[in-house]
Amino acid sequence: MDVRNPADGLVVGQVQDHPPAMVADTVGQLRRLQPEWDAIGSAARAEWLLRLLDWLMDNSDRLTDVVQSETGKTRFDAGIEVPAAIDLAKYWARHAGGFLTEERPTPHSPIGLTKRLITRYQPYPVVGIITPWNLPLLNPCFDAFSALMAGAAVLVKPSEVTPLSAGELARGWAEIGAPPVFSVLTGGVETGRAVVDAVDYVQFTGSTATGRAIASVCGDALKPCSLELGGKDPAIVLADADIDRTVAGIVYGGLFNSGQVCISVERIYVEAPVYDRFVACLVDQVRELRQGHDDRGFRFDIGAMATPGQCEIVTRHVEDAVSRGARILIGGKATGAGAFFEPTVLVDVDHSMTCMTEETFGPLLPVIRVADEDEAIRLANDSDYGLSATVWCGDRQRGERVARRLEAGAVNINDAFANLVNFAVPMGGWKNSGMGARFGGPAGIRKYCRQQAILVPRGPALKREPLWYPASRVRSRLVTTLMRIFDGRGRRRFFAARGD
Ligand code: NAD
Repeated sequence: MDVRNPADGLVVGQVQDHPPAMVADTVGQLRRLQPEWDAIGSAARAEWLLRLLDWLMDNSDRLTDVVQSETGKTRFDAGIEVPAAIDLAKYWARHAGGFLTEERPTPHSPIGLTKRLITRYQPYPVVGIITPWNLPLLNPCFDAFSALMAGAAVLVKPSEVTPLSAGELARGWAEIGAPPVFSVLTGGVETGRAVVDAVDYVQFTGSTATGRAIASVCGDALKPCSLELGGKDPAIVLADADIDRTVAGIVYGGLFNSGQVCISVERIYVEAPVYDRFVACLVDQVRELRQGHDDRGFRFDIGAMATPGQCEIVTRHVEDAVSRGARILIGGKATGAGAFFEPTVLVDVDHSMTCMTEETFGPLLPVIRVADEDEAIRLANDSDYGLSATVWCGDRQRGERVARRLEAGAVNINDAFANLVNFAVPMGGWKNSGMGARFGGPAGIRKYCRQQAILVPRGPALKREPLWYPASRVRSRLVTTLMRIFDGRGRRRFFAARGD
């Protein structure tokens, strides 16, 4: 399969379209190697991840070249992928051992004191990670590092649009000499389907439609999966916000990566007193942006869309909005050469328009004037999606109050994307934006494990436990009496109801 740079259409690489049989073989091999990877323990696994971290650092420029070549991003946008991956590797290398430590819970009732309780975490043998094209190096890292640190073997199936960066990651894993428990297989939808069929746990990032199809296959097979899907993230601008900073934040949050981030700002609700000032400032700041493509330079702020198809979606959303009465204040069209779409501000929009209901995944900033905070929250929550949101305000306590009323998996106050690089909090979508979450401390690694409870007797063994056969009225009474004493309230602790 040819891989093209969408900025100029040139072929920048070629990869295999791996058939399902190859996927099954690779998963079989990974499954054979995984027990040894699990057995070396979390400290040894962390050491391998730290060596990969060193490799990422040593190859940072070249990796950023690859990211840029297959996405048409600006150098500035592409440049965050390696540092974020390194930071994430450090996080899991440092914490995985602690997060996976067996737990010794206290029994919930005095009767349980006859047992020593253990909860342990046993990794799924093979985790399959299916990724989209928007952050081609970082997306696989987001989930592969924690799965590997859990002790699972990992197979990544990157997007057919941008498969080269994930291939580099596999090359890095091999170059550091790590155990061969991390593989990347390129291909299209059929390869992805084969991954879902073959692995023991599916971690999917991509569109809601594909996520739903995968969840249905996993449901039939009773196979666990975690889905990070699309979003339609609202920004709420309250009247006491610092407008200049807010606009700068929303311009970045909405247009970074040409708007192709799952947690991009896609809808903006502005309180009436500051609406005019906000819109004027937004148009000014968008006008300042430089769009284009220049490899390693920093002359441009906004790069290309990943595919011509993405440009068509943005065009469709703009045309639909305009046909229903929206006005374009700046931008509004594809530029013609390469897959570029102008950064665009739309006003006079409403929720009958696709640009306010469907995910655009492009450089589109539609703005709505709202009477107050309540209307902003009502409209923000009026969506099938619930990935993330931003609130812009002067009074941070008020911002926090608004955040708690939003139906979204993450809310950033006076910032955009901050949750994407704060690994101690979970990143997951509500509603049609997903199922499960990544990151978030212990939960972000334990999700790749099956929990096992082990109960070890304490003290001398009785000849028979009280509930074992043969049946006996006396021992049955003993059980109900103990239940009353330990679980009953008030007089029920001591007196049975009549007839009991
Ligand atoms: P997509 O759903 O078309 O494809 C994603 C991946 O799934 C690709 O690798 C593709 O080959 C594979 N695939 C497609 N059909 C499959 C099937 N039936 N079985 C198995 N695999 C299959 O998504 P895309 O267009 O590549 O990416 C854009 C989408 O990703 C947007 O909706 C965006 O919001 C979402 N996204 C979400 C997050 C998040 O963390 N929530 C992050 C980035 C992107």
